[in-house]
Amino acid sequence: MAMGRNGTPGIEQDSGIRDITVIGAGPVGLIASFWAGMREASSRIVDSLPELGGQLTTLYPEKWIYDVPGHPRVLAKDLVELLRKQSIEQFDVPVHLETTAERVEYEPDPDDPDRRILRLVTDRGDLLTRTIIIAGGHGAFEPKRLPGYDMTPWEGRGAHYIVSEKAEFAGKRVVIVGGGDSACDWALNLLDTAAGITLVHRREGFRAHEVTVAEVMRAAEAGKVDLRVPYQIKEVEGNGRIERVRLFHSENEDDVVDVDCDAVLLQLGFKTALGPLKDWPLEISKGAIVVDPQMRTSMEGVWAAGDITTFEGKLKLIATGFAEAAIAVAQAVHHIRPETKIQPKYSTNTGVPGAVEGQP
Ligand SMILES: Cc1cc2nc3c(=O)[nH]c(=O)nc-3n(C[C@H](O)[C@H](O)[C@H](O)COP(=O)(O)OP(=O)(O)OC[C@H]3O[C@@H](n4cnc5c(N)ncnc54)[C@H](O)[C@@H]3O)c2cc1C
Repeated sequence: MAMGRNGTPGIEQDSGIRDITVIGAGPVGLIASFWAGMREASSRIVDSLPELGGQLTTLYPEKWIYDVPGHPRVLAKDLVELLRKQSIEQFDVPVHLETTAERVEYEPDPDDPDRRILRLVTDRGDLLTRTIIIAGGHGAFEPKRLPGYDMTPWEGRGAHYIVSEKAEFAGKRVVIVGGGDSACDWALNLLDTAAGITLVHRREGFRAHEVTVAEVMRAAEAGKVDLRVPYQIKEVEGNGRIERVRLFHSENEDDVVDVDCDAVLLQLGFKTALGPLKDWPLEISKGAIVVDPQMRTSMEGVWAAGDITTFEGKLKLIATGFAEAAIAVAQAVHHIRPETKIQPKYSTNTGVPGAVEGQP
């Protein structure tokens, strides 16, 4: 298959009708493609972000996750890689990144005039599919910008919104801005990597977990973290790259202090929005898609799984999202091929469809 952006197949090369099109390449979307493969259903994934992994890649790639069954602990980015291998690699699933699902149209199935297929319209072209599973998480997300000072000119020149690799900050003097869990977590997490950490927050109090705040305070007392509260960024200086930030006291603008640094890590939270999905004729409650116990949405041929769903007893966890994806896929496959049982056969008996005996 010819490759498009990011080494992924171009949409024009993916013109056939797939059984399942998964919207979202977060952990739940990835595992949905795996479940599809196990049911011998063809699938593809689209995601508006440039990388796989959803929140795990964008918000916390270097954090340990402790509650994914079977993994006493796993780094978020490592879990994404394992899921990629288990789903996309094992079943050769086309993935269209930087592709946003915009709307759905229904049309007659060319193979069966009594049935309808779906045309998923994306910003890069149309995809034909028998069913859709929406695993869109919180929708598209983007980092919140610094209020009061435009950091845009410094993006790519020392200003960061996420930590993709801790190594990016190796040996650097890092100014972290923010007062929530992410700011405090990174102040501690980068201590073993950065040459120096300054934590800047516009208020005295932090909004992070008590235990984390206590650890930050201990690190500050030990001289490991330079704590600047209540301070805000007044100005950034540098010759091509960030070399210094000027801070001002939140209650007295004349009280300024210069901090020499190589990087500024802005940890001010993320804005999320359902994006184009909010215009679909889906039943929405508090920003999430209402599903029934079979993960069916109010649209024909469309199921949903993961953080984007809501129902009584809903838990927003990776583990429960995996299970929701299994249910959604079983239902979608049964919808396409009513003769198939909803309960899958055990993988211990079937192995991986298409794989030779003994293949992992
Ligand atoms: C800091 C932090 C720590 C966490 N720690 C844990 C933990 O320890 N354990 C745990 O179980 N959970 C944890 N979570 C929650 C966990 O990350 C989520 O439950 C999980 O990411 C949900 O997966 P998902 O695939 O449903 O959605 P997401 O990971 O949000 O992925 C959804 C994807 O859909 C894409 N998308 C949305 N709309 C469209 C569209 N229209 N077109 C194309 N693509 C679209 C988005 O770009 C995104 O990539 C944590 C979350 C955060 C923020």
